[in-house]
Amino acid sequence: MKKLSINHYSLFILLSLAFTACQPKETTSFQYNVDKFYDLEILRYDVPEFDSLSLQQKQLIYCLSEAALWGRDILFDQNGRYNLRIRRTLEALYLYQTSKQGEAQTSNKVEDPNFDALERYLKRVWFSNGIHHHYSEDKFLPEFSQEWFVAACEKAGVTYDPAILPVMFDPAVMPKRTTAQDGVDLVLNSAGNYYGEGVTQAEAEAWYAAHKDNSPEPLWIGLNSKLVKNENGEIEEQVYKVGGLYGEALEHIVYWLREALKYAENDAQKLAIEKMIAFNETGDLKTFNEYCIAWVKDLDSRVDYVNGFTETYSDPLGITGTWESMVNFKDLAATKRTETISKNAQWFEDHSTTDPKYKKEEVKGVSAKVITAAILAGDCYPATPIGINLPNANWIRKEYGSKSVTIDNLVHAYNEAAKGNGFNEEFMIDDETRALYEKYGAVCGDLHTDLHECVGHGSGKLMPGVTKDALKEHASTIEEARADLFGLYFLGDPKLVELGLLPSADAYKAGYYQQQMNGLMTQLVRIEPGKDIEEAHMRNRQLIANWVYEHATNKEVEIIERDGKHYLKVNDYEGLRRLYGELLAEIQRITSEGDYAAAKEMVEKYAVKVNPELHQEILARYKKLNLAPYKGFVNPVYTAVRNADGEITDVKIDFSEGYVEQHLRYSKDYSPLPDVN
Ligand code: ZN
Repeated sequence: MKKLSINHYSLFILLSLAFTACQPKETTSFQYNVDKFYDLEILRYDVPEFDSLSLQQKQLIYCLSEAALWGRDILFDQNGRYNLRIRRTLEALYLYQTSKQGEAQTSNKVEDPNFDALERYLKRVWFSNGIHHHYSEDKFLPEFSQEWFVAACEKAGVTYDPAILPVMFDPAVMPKRTTAQDGVDLVLNSAGNYYGEGVTQAEAEAWYAAHKDNSPEPLWIGLNSKLVKNENGEIEEQVYKVGGLYGEALEHIVYWLREALKYAENDAQKLAIEKMIAFNETGDLKTFNEYCIAWVKDLDSRVDYVNGFTETYSDPLGITGTWESMVNFKDLAATKRTETISKNAQWFEDHSTTDPKYKKEEVKGVSAKVITAAILAGDCYPATPIGINLPNANWIRKEYGSKSVTIDNLVHAYNEAAKGNGFNEEFMIDDETRALYEKYGAVCGDLHTDLHECVGHGSGKLMPGVTKDALKEHASTIEEARADLFGLYFLGDPKLVELGLLPSADAYKAGYYQQQMNGLMTQLVRIEPGKDIEEAHMRNRQLIANWVYEHATNKEVEIIERDGKHYLKVNDYEGLRRLYGELLAEIQRITSEGDYAAAKEMVEKYAVKVNPELHQEILARYKKLNLAPYKGFVNPVYTAVRNADGEITDVKIDFSEGYVEQHLRYSKDYSPLPDVN
């Protein structure tokens, strides 16, 4: 719940399905698709509005992005103690081989399958920031042999630590990055480098228990440290700080944070950066708490950032933070859109199809914050979250609040990159529907999300005596359905065109077709054969699509068969809107009355079960498209233009760098840590 992570497979597919666009690529100069290997696809994201930022904001972004890039080695080392040695050996060999290939190009170039395998393996190591798959956390093996590797290194004059050989080639050595297996020592059996060699789970837990802070404003003991065994076999804490563990990288980060201070937009932002610097210098956890509070209070700045030891999923005991960074700035266009919706919250409430007795007399919309990512680093790169919700400490969230944002330009890149991948050609019924979707699919997707978040959840009221948990295990499915239906119903309202949120009276049809197709058919690609639908958002989408399908007595929607394939056909969009309105009224009634029996029946009848034949067909059609399930990004390149005094007078942004070039450059220019830390 802390962070919307693209690492969560479900969320990722949710995105790719909710927004998958169609049709051959439009002629745009921006290249979203960069590279594809194994189950991974590399995309590029645009940074719209960068040119409209003030010079000071650009200077700030430049310094913060340098502070971001200098942390890359930290993550490699946290992910495994051999990772830096392996990466550097592979890169040295790769550079030697590419220069040889370059020479050979003029004469007789020989195709070498081992070189291709080396390149693929290295690309994968870069993607995972180590030798374990970024999502499954299983170790992946090279497609070249140890014999070839040893001989190639020798020929190239590349020296390496022989200890990396079993780590790379023996499937039994360090097979899992973070193990969650029952009954085994989680620390000893995890390849992650959050604990020194020989430290056991019991020893680590005993140390944490002895040092735990139980005060009302507790220090997060262990957030920024590694527990190791000293020569007497005692547990010792090595703190991540300047002069301590990872100090060589943190020095550079501190340098660039100091540079960033010069360009801070206001005092609140300045205070937060100062606290972050002090924390990196001292490792003092009280300072970290002060930083979190200062950061969460800084709401007015356009530019914002995450930089440091943040999420704790990769530590098998869930305590130590993994290093990450993301620099971003407020997306003013999108923020304006959500403000328009919030301002009209009362109009939406009054005009919804729900019974007047379930309406709120006075309703307030919330305006969602939407940001543009400017650089991704550490555990946010190349695979990245599409939202941020920080800080993690519950007492700070309660007392001082939190920041929750969605990252619009990354969502946009996923949409654009999906164009022409064949998905909509396979599943949408005809050219006309695809053309409509190409034109309006993205705007409908954004708007539906905004309506869902800004007014959908906040609408309606409970009858006296009814509590939020009355619908028990079905509460979240019903609640998501309610917010989705609110959004769907108003997506088709002329009011949105009037407010300037939709470009034409026809546009909503793209969103309606997509909802029905996804809910009835295409979201099934995420379900294994024979399984039910479990996840609340998926249940809610099928509930809506199925209910409407069953109640379409005038064939407003139907499923037709053509050449052995099934397609969704919408005959009457107005009628479809009426059905959404009817269902919204009923779901609101169930919620307001706390009618558990009706909720249970609704969910069990429409949301859970899957038609096995249709499911098989969809899976087979999807498999043929050969789409990469995981995506990651390359960053833009920022270049500072300096005057004779060394002052930054402008910052240029460039999008032309490729995946391999980017990683080789980062390894060359931003690699301060020794092989062994
Ligand atoms: Zn929701």
